[in-house]
Amino acid sequence: MRSDKKKMEKQFGTKGAIFSLDAISAAEYVKDTQKEAAIYFAIKKTVGEVTKDKDENTVLPPKVARETFYSFKGKGKINKDDWKGAEIVPTYETLQTTPCKNCNGKGYVENKCRTCKGTGKIEEKLQVLTGEEQTKEEKPFSYSCGVCFGTGNNKEQCKDCGGYKNLYKYQILPVPFKTVVTGIPVLHSSAQTKYEKEIERDLHQMIEEVEGIKFSDFKDLEAKAEPSLGYWNKNIKKTINSAGSDHKSYSKDKEAQITTQIYLFPMIQMFCETKKGTKFEIYSLGSQNKFMIYSNF
Ligand SMILES: [Zn+2]
Ligand SMILES: [Zn+2]
Repeated sequence: MRSDKKKMEKQFGTKGAIFSLDAISAAEYVKDTQKEAAIYFAIKKTVGEVTKDKDENTVLPPKVARETFYSFKGKGKINKDDWKGAEIVPTYETLQTTPCKNCNGKGYVENKCRTCKGTGKIEEKLQVLTGEEQTKEEKPFSYSCGVCFGTGNNKEQCKDCGGYKNLYKYQILPVPFKTVVTGIPVLHSSAQTKYEKEIERDLHQMIEEVEGIKFSDFKDLEAKAEPSLGYWNKNIKKTINSAGSDHKSYSKDKEAQITTQIYLFPMIQMFCETKKGTKFEIYSLGSQNKFMIYSNF
């Protein structure tokens, strides 16, 4: 314990209490001691990694006007934490016109006029009665088709482009997020302590200064945890299981990378009471030589 006096002072100092080793180690104050364990490893996570997903839309012009576009041109990378919205968005710069293939960009398709069968003319016959005998004669009579205006063709609105001649294509691209690689500590502890986050953070900063039992493989830890600690309980078993599944899911996570070995720390939880009846707890993590200590003393 003495080798880490400074850190102890730091811990107790921040709690505004006067540091005294004797006060802590005095057996009469310690009402109960529980042996627990903690597992620590660190990961590196790439936050804001650009998704590979993208999409493309081809729509009629009125729909373009109802879409919301985004532009990041000349705006630099976006901080993912501050971004409110989807990860892939319609990108303004990709908007482009594509002439309708069905009508070749005319907006209509031409069909042979059914009224005049494509001739542009209506052919009829006139009855003419000639002379005193009123001899019946037929004379040809043709006139311009009123349906196609004499062109022989009818223009029909193109079904593909709705007469708009063009369709509009745009891409739905990933927001250009800043890529930030951060180190994240992961701690699992069998002691139910409110210092878990603090311990996690401190271990991350000074992992080499606290003595733990190192494993490079979780299966190895599972097998050797009990003999290494020299004690065992249900909570330790549970903690190892949950740390194991956590470790497994991080090793499968494409955005994460486990950057340290797995550390198993013996942990001692002391339940204390002063002569005046003030109750407090002490958590100690590490070996006799190198350890960290926390208390609400
Ligand atoms: Zn016609
Ligand atoms: Zn068309």
